[in-house]
Amino acid sequence: MRDFTIAAYKNLLVSLKEAGYSFATFSEFIQKKPGQRLVMLRHDVDDRKLHSLEFARIQRDMGIVGTYYFRMVPESFDEDVIREIHRMGHEIGYHYEDMDFAGGDPAKAVQLFEQHLETLRKIVPVSTICMHGSPKSKYDNKDVWKHYDYKKYGIIGEPYFDIDFKQVFYVTDTGRQWDGHKVSVRDKVANYFNLSFHTTFEIINCVKNNKFPNIVMFNFHPQRWTDNTILWIWEKYVQNIKNLIKFIVIKLR
Ligand SMILES: [Zn+2]
Repeated sequence: MRDFTIAAYKNLLVSLKEAGYSFATFSEFIQKKPGQRLVMLRHDVDDRKLHSLEFARIQRDMGIVGTYYFRMVPESFDEDVIREIHRMGHEIGYHYEDMDFAGGDPAKAVQLFEQHLETLRKIVPVSTICMHGSPKSKYDNKDVWKHYDYKKYGIIGEPYFDIDFKQVFYVTDTGRQWDGHKVSVRDKVANYFNLSFHTTFEIINCVKNNKFPNIVMFNFHPQRWTDNTILWIWEKYVQNIKNLIKFIVIKLR
């Protein structure tokens, strides 16, 4: 079976369910203290929003929930898609990049943040946010919170600030591999678990062997996952080139 396909994705969810993990949205995790074995499925809807809609449907059909962070750009933001994913019982959050929009000016960034949050809240309730990290940008979108406090806007959580990564194992498909943190410029958290995976199948094996941590946040970019062969080949090779560029960017810093 090829990796980063819908079939591989479904196998991962089935393995987690069979291992007895429960599933929570990020806001549920913040509000209630988690159970023994818990998984958060976080999705950064950077592009190809219909892939996220498909992920949301697969989860709904399996009786599980996830969290979807939407950007304000047309390749992500879509009222109908947002409303539909929310209607299925998933959480919607704001995938902010307002420091980028504001050219690094925090006062302007927080103003844009307020406006964008309001735009999203006209469609669905929003109680958590998550930064978008563009490797091409010179700004770190989290930096706006060096000057302002998101809790003032009724936001109860931002994964990069409100998760104790000593308790919660974090894995991301950044770079279209599960160990892409090695080449990631922004999507980085400290890893206290001494665990690293390359393929989805390695994760599934670890879950089946009962070696996977108890509390986990997965970060998916659904635009990379597809059963369409041409798109799959495109994603694989374009991502290899992007990873090489990111590697060079990191080395030059
Ligand atoms: Zn993003």
